[in-house]
Amino acid sequence: MELKTDFSLKAFNTFKVEAAAARYVRFDSENEIVDFLGRNFLDGQRRLVLGGGSNLLFVDDFDGTVLHPLLKGIHVIKKERQHVWIRAMAGENWDDLVAFAVASGWGGIENLSLIPGSVGASAVQNIGAYGVEVKDLIDRVEAISIHNPEKVRFFPDDCRFGYRSSNFKGRWAGQFIITAVVFKLSRKPDFALAYPGVKSAVEKLGAMTLDNVRQAIVSIRQSKLPDPALIGNAGSFFKNPVIDGHALCGMLKLNPDLPHFPQGDDRYKVAAGWLIERCGWKGRSMGRAAVHDRQALVLVNLGGATGLEILELSEQVNGAVQAMFGIELEREVLVVR
Ligand code: NAP
Repeated sequence: MELKTDFSLKAFNTFKVEAAAARYVRFDSENEIVDFLGRNFLDGQRRLVLGGGSNLLFVDDFDGTVLHPLLKGIHVIKKERQHVWIRAMAGENWDDLVAFAVASGWGGIENLSLIPGSVGASAVQNIGAYGVEVKDLIDRVEAISIHNPEKVRFFPDDCRFGYRSSNFKGRWAGQFIITAVVFKLSRKPDFALAYPGVKSAVEKLGAMTLDNVRQAIVSIRQSKLPDPALIGNAGSFFKNPVIDGHALCGMLKLNPDLPHFPQGDDRYKVAAGWLIERCGWKGRSMGRAAVHDRQALVLVNLGGATGLEILELSEQVNGAVQAMFGIELEREVLVVR
């Protein structure tokens, strides 16, 4: 365990913005967490549980306690003929887990290759890409309650996983530290190839194997998305809006090429990146913050931007989308003040 005061979080957020935490605690084991929470009553105090810092934007210094579980380890806990259960600790890098699963021949999470962040945060955010959401592979989530430091387990039904959301992000925010996630993977992979470009990218590489699917996803992502190691960003800044059939009809009359995807119940997801691009914001910058030039859903720090500058850019973009389409975009990124 490591406890620091007035601690810079620049290295712990992928936007690479400067922000200091009044108090920062790094944990390397479950026992350290239980022990710390037993001695430090955090109820009523500001606190933030940090993962890989890849889905948040600091717009100010954080005047509370940042709790950072960096627990490591990946273990197979059960094997059956069709499935394998692996328990990954919260501080493992998400993509390292995907690489391990693929190298072991276990399918399910290969489409989620190269998503930045930690294993713990994958459950908070219900990360998703190329037609796969992590909720469908999660067997259970292990956590420690901040209120009453004891170990608890949650099953998918408890977590209310939704589109880039869960109870951990919603009504339980700040109440639990996720320590590990157990995934149920398939020993006989069933590939998800419906998203545009995935199947053809795999075929170019050769046989339909887990390794080729991973490689295809990695190269698609690398061709469109900025690498947070090189340019500060937090992936998709906004969620794709979901609208009803009546609203969609109205939009399609004016914009027949609007990409839209049925969600059931007469609801349709529309591509937020397309809306932003149509408003003329793709590739535009405001000071040291910009809308990425290959994927308009991603905002980037061109170097030295403050969190506030990035937030202001996002508000301009959202305002333009509202003015042109009457749709208010919802942030996917968590803004921390
Ligand atoms: P894209 O192919 O340009 O498509 C734009 C949007 O259309 C995507 O966001 C996707 O929604 C939706 N879409 C495309 N094909 C679809 C289908 N067959 N069925 C349902 N919805 C479909 O998208 P992109 O920006 O390159 O992203 C590709 C994938 O990577 C997406 O799944 C996206 O979510 C994911 N991604 C995630 C992050 C992150 O930070 N979490 C960042 C970048 C990209 P969905 O987003 O709902 O899948």
